[in-house]
Amino acid sequence: MDFTLNDDQRALQEAARKFAQTELPALARELEEANEPLPQAWVKRYAEMGFLGINLPEAFGGQGMSHFDAVLVLEEFAKISGAVAAPIFESCFGPTLAIQRYASEELQRRVLPAVCAGEMVVAVSMSEPNAGSALTDLRTRGVVEGGQVMLDGQKRWCSGAGHAEGYLVYCRLSDAPGAAGIGAVFVDKGTPGLSFGKREKLMGFRSTHHCDIFLDRVQVPAAQIVVPAGGFKQLMQAFDLERCGNTTMSLGLAQGAFDDITRYIKERIAFGRPLADFQAVQLKIAEMAMKLDASRLLLYRAVVNAADGLPSLRESSIAKCFANEIVRQVCIDAMQLMGGYGYSTEYDMERRVRDSFGWGLAGGAIDIQKINIAGAVLGHRFDQRRS
Ligand SMILES: Cc1cc2nc3c(=O)[nH]c(=O)nc-3n(C[C@H](O)[C@H](O)[C@H](O)COP(=O)(O)OP(=O)(O)OC[C@H]3O[C@@H](n4cnc5c(N)ncnc54)[C@H](O)[C@@H]3O)c2cc1C
Repeated sequence: MDFTLNDDQRALQEAARKFAQTELPALARELEEANEPLPQAWVKRYAEMGFLGINLPEAFGGQGMSHFDAVLVLEEFAKISGAVAAPIFESCFGPTLAIQRYASEELQRRVLPAVCAGEMVVAVSMSEPNAGSALTDLRTRGVVEGGQVMLDGQKRWCSGAGHAEGYLVYCRLSDAPGAAGIGAVFVDKGTPGLSFGKREKLMGFRSTHHCDIFLDRVQVPAAQIVVPAGGFKQLMQAFDLERCGNTTMSLGLAQGAFDDITRYIKERIAFGRPLADFQAVQLKIAEMAMKLDASRLLLYRAVVNAADGLPSLRESSIAKCFANEIVRQVCIDAMQLMGGYGYSTEYDMERRVRDSFGWGLAGGAIDIQKINIAGAVLGHRFDQRRS
């Protein structure tokens, strides 16, 4: 398998790197301090520079490039912070993927160009108070009648809740039990009956809004059903690609920590020598480098094999699970190597450690990925409800 970047990909990666490294570090710190997402003016700027919807078709305002191209760009932004990378993550690997594949053409034409122009953020609302890993326990219900869907229920943990203009809401669209009754509906933020709870205070991800979403007799046209009842499998297939976005965010975060620490240990003097001169420090750096390379290769395998389609459950779960584990390890090791400075909020490292723990929960917990992997390896989906 050949992961050599061609000239266009190298130029794209370099453009993203230059922009991210020169324009975004100070802004990332401001957003962290303010607990707020990237302002709209910046999102528009990303759009003008062609950084949104990289892997969406040109007909919808995207760049018509590959998932691999999108990964190359996203990693450069994620090295700085999740906050500044979020619009790229959402537009290339978020619920837009399900909308592009399964929604009516009318909805695609309304949503996707707005996302690519930086005028709309779409969030995915799957989890509920009593349905996280056990997602098929979700209870939010949509009743289809007379060309309308009436939605009632409560959602939890949605990244971007209250901030995003649109929501892909997973819900029960028939009385069929378990996965068979589940589909998804697009809901605009201003729809009557849709409201938001108090903002969650999380350990990391501070610039992303999270809160409960309440749906109280929310009525939308049936044409906004993106996937009807029985389409849970389709939703999960699109989610296989979302996992590659989560993987890239994890990898970028880890790589950012690594880049900082490799600079730091050459400058910081202890016992009259740079930290980099000590063999115990060198071993840590080698371990981090191996983890990063392995993570990047697993990610590249998943997206390159997907071409412009969807990756396999096995390859996307392996990539996500590995990246989710190593980002925690790399960030913690880098923080330790910074000594007291690593623990100070004056520097980016403690923020990186806090953020690193979120990715192994968002998009499915680490152990759930391992269950996916074991199922794929053994050729059997293990029913978690039966021993
Ligand atoms: C930062 C962040 C962002 C998020 N963004 C979104 C979002 O945008 N949209 C959305 O819908 N949701 C989002 N979530 C929710 C996320 O998908 C859930 O938190 C996750 O799926 C786990 O569900 P839970 O929290 O209910 O944990 P539970 O399902 O209660 O699981 C708790 C732990 O139990 C273990 N566990 C559970 N079941 C099993 C099993 N069968 N075998 C082995 N171990 C098991 C796992 O280790 C798991 O970590 C986000 C969460 C976080 C923290």
